[in-house]
Amino acid sequence: MTLSLNATVAAAAHETAEQLYAHIDISKLNWLEQQWVAWYLWIGNPIIATGLMSFLLHELVYFGRCVPWIIIDAIPYFQKWKIQPDKIPTAKEQWECTKGVLSSHFAIELPAIWFFHPMADALGLEMHQVPFPSWRIMLPQIAFFFVFEDFFHFWAHRALHTPVLYKHIHKLHHKYSAPFGLAAEYAHPAETFILGTGTLAGPLLWCYFRRDVHIVTVYIWITLRLFQAIDAHSGYDFPWSLRNILPFWSGAEHHDFHHMSFTNNYSTSFRWWDFIFGTDQKYREYRNRLAANKAVMKNKTKAEQNAAERKLLEEVEAEGHLAEAVAEGSAATGKTLKVQ
Ligand SMILES: [Zn+2]
Ligand SMILES: [Zn+2]
Repeated sequence: MTLSLNATVAAAAHETAEQLYAHIDISKLNWLEQQWVAWYLWIGNPIIATGLMSFLLHELVYFGRCVPWIIIDAIPYFQKWKIQPDKIPTAKEQWECTKGVLSSHFAIELPAIWFFHPMADALGLEMHQVPFPSWRIMLPQIAFFFVFEDFFHFWAHRALHTPVLYKHIHKLHHKYSAPFGLAAEYAHPAETFILGTGTLAGPLLWCYFRRDVHIVTVYIWITLRLFQAIDAHSGYDFPWSLRNILPFWSGAEHHDFHHMSFTNNYSTSFRWWDFIFGTDQKYREYRNRLAANKAVMKNKTKAEQNAAERKLLEEVEAEGHLAEAVAEGSAATGKTLKVQ
């Protein structure tokens, strides 16, 4: 292809946007591809154009996906599907969390996006290029990114629960024992870096071995990954939630338990690694207890059923606080990080 970027950043930076598209017939492109070209031509520098677009996309998708959850939290009707029904986050908590997430986006993700460009460029990731790849090329790549990230995250997350890493890094993300959408990326900078590696290493590896990845595929993947992470932290399990359609999909019901109990359920998208490695035993026991409780309380009033369910929730949460204190090496202190 005559459009390939020079391998080094310096060379790419000196190539004007007009030169990049010198041999392309714009009229043959679809609408989106034409906007893509227009963006690169307008910004004029491919490195800045890619970096800015990546950052804006991330902010737009992240906060855009959080808005429906903020609205749902404000409407009592939805409370019946809240996994920990008494733990609706307050506006103050959501604002504090937003500030934390924003500062990490600017301090960590913005420079990371900047450094990602030369690495991606050297590995041959297509960025300014048009036309975009077809769905037949994108789909297997996105499927691989999902499976790779989930596997990476499972082990990295387990490592983050070892005492030293927990105390100094992962504890921040566990501030919320009843998470909400905005808390998905509320984490220590080192955690953002470690777990972000799992999201970006899939595309870079595929690029290294196959060399046919376009950044638009990476953007679709990151959008889906953000939806997955925010929804998993939403705190709601609806009858129409994806995990009820795909039984191996983790969803909020799976990850909420991790925050509540501090243990079990380390993966992101899929349930299979926790099942295979037995790190979902407590979670499955808890589900069995919930089901048994439902059967026993069948003929009781709704208020009595809810009270019994809440008792079970409190037991798990108390066990979680103890487990966290043990991991921190300070079993006596307990924890005071409840979201009320
Ligand atoms: Zn954790
Ligand atoms: Zn989490």
